[in-house]
Amino acid sequence: MPSKVGLVYSDEYLKHDTGNHSESSKRLEAILSLLKEKNVLKYLTFIKPRKADLREIEYIHSPSYIQEVREICQGGGGFLDSDTPVSSESFEVALLAAGGVFSAIDRVVGNLDSAFCLIRPPGHHALKSQGMGFCLFNNVALGARYAQNKHHLKKVLILDWDVHHGNGTQEAFWHDPSVLYFSIHQYPHYPGTGDIKEIGEGEGRGYTVNVPLPPECGDGDYIHILKELLSPIAKEFKADITFISAGFDAHRDDPLGGMGLTSQGYGALTSLVKESSKKIVSCLEGGYNLKSLGESVLTHLDSLASRPEGSRGPRGREFNLFPKERINEEPIKDVSPVRSKSLMATASDKYRRTSNGVKEIVKEVKEIHSWSFK
Ligand SMILES: [Zn+2]
Repeated sequence: MPSKVGLVYSDEYLKHDTGNHSESSKRLEAILSLLKEKNVLKYLTFIKPRKADLREIEYIHSPSYIQEVREICQGGGGFLDSDTPVSSESFEVALLAAGGVFSAIDRVVGNLDSAFCLIRPPGHHALKSQGMGFCLFNNVALGARYAQNKHHLKKVLILDWDVHHGNGTQEAFWHDPSVLYFSIHQYPHYPGTGDIKEIGEGEGRGYTVNVPLPPECGDGDYIHILKELLSPIAKEFKADITFISAGFDAHRDDPLGGMGLTSQGYGALTSLVKESSKKIVSCLEGGYNLKSLGESVLTHLDSLASRPEGSRGPRGREFNLFPKERINEEPIKDVSPVRSKSLMATASDKYRRTSNGVKEIVKEVKEIHSWSFK
């Protein structure tokens, strides 16, 4: 049977007005118009988002920060940091973004297999008491707590494949072994966190897994990392629900990242996540090339909706969106960071040592962590 996939969306998300900014309402409009053009909405179950209430936002954020965001917006808007503009409507839209994740969770705990939250503002950089990097409230972190508090799910896995490290999500669960945070990101890069040695503390030690990569890693590298690291960890951790912090800015055409993923690559990654997950709630984070963003979301949804690889029975609801590009599954053996020399200049000596190959980074993650790897 093909999988039942939900889609969270509301035109209200367009009202978070950031002006002339990479993170604009044009992103959602581009995705939605491609979904309509390819006639795939009929395969998805529409989920109407609700607004989170303030107590729910306090699962992750301090009351004083919530109040601060509210006041800036009520005063007509402003900036949470130099990258993060807010308009008069942004506070309410951010409540609807987090609440949209809650609505998705309610349905996925019910009869849906997965859901994609087509929401903004994004969330994974938002810290307990500070908005940053285009993020107001941490949608995925809030979703993880909601799943635990409201649905009594015990263990949550968060996969963050946005090209930027999700410093806010890492902070939220740094001491917590019930939420496993696994991030693949360009490093060093904004926001500066996500070193391979950042693994959590106290009871949470080992439950933060960072896979920092040099620029220009492609589909094969990411597939290698999911197969070698995420899959064995997910099998051992046995999460009750999996969240994806689904940024699409590791695409090779993205203006804010230096990575080399293709649109089809996101579909391949999604299929791999499905193999080791019971229920999936995927939430839009970054992705700033409007064309590749739309295409990547399509292949992501296509894989979420398709029948699992190797299963019997009739063909699933594969959308057959565009001619399948051949994905090179072989990880590249040596990575020479050509495009981002200036970024590499800030790397520590330690990082230079590991940056000579993705396979070596994978090996180092296995040495640092005590999960059972093959
Ligand atoms: Zn990003």
